[in-house]
Amino acid sequence: MDYPKKLVVEVLEKAQGKALTGFLTGQGSRNATLMLVGEAPGKIEIQTKIPFTGRSGKKLDVWLELADLKREDIYITSAVRNRPYKIVSSLDKKTGKLKERRPNRAPTQQEVWIHASLLDYEIQTVRPKILAPMGNIGLKRLLGGKYKIADIHGELMESTILQVNQEKTTYENSAETYLIFPLYHPAAVFYNPALENLIEQDWEKLGHLVNNI
Ligand code: URA
Repeated sequence: MDYPKKLVVEVLEKAQGKALTGFLTGQGSRNATLMLVGEAPGKIEIQTKIPFTGRSGKKLDVWLELADLKREDIYITSAVRNRPYKIVSSLDKKTGKLKERRPNRAPTQQEVWIHASLLDYEIQTVRPKILAPMGNIGLKRLLGGKYKIADIHGELMESTILQVNQEKTTYENSAETYLIFPLYHPAAVFYNPALENLIEQDWEKLGHLVNNI
């Protein structure tokens, strides 16, 4: 999606000096019934310019197919549009010199706040019937800190969501309510493979909901 230039300039100005790189827009159908909200793009997504095309994306594609959902019919975005990275230095045993890597990391709450107006814009433009945060970062961004994915994944709820207030000083509750279907982030199975069955069940349920709404 193309965002208003003014919004992007504002966000990128605030992101300056943080360990953030690249920029990836949310993508998919403007008429999507379902919007998936992840964390932030990783190295691969910044290269391919397509959300969820790395290791997590491969898992996501399997579950989309299971749920009979197609990428082109849904909208995929995340709480943050730049890639958050950390700097890791280690000694190269061959050369004896310090070498530096910049792996992905989860975004901070401040980084989520910096990008919040872009997600607001996407939600207000697409107006999806169902918002599905994938993982705690997306969930917190939409509903605040009161829930955990492990407790409410796979449950459809109706709720207001957090959005940036007019003065752009803090979050406020939206005037309207949205249907929210929380999901585990695809990367959760890399840390806990036992979650796979539960996650599959959630996706089947979501597919049924979206295809019958
Ligand atoms: N995690 C996300 O939240 N988004 C991506 O595009 C990839 C991993």
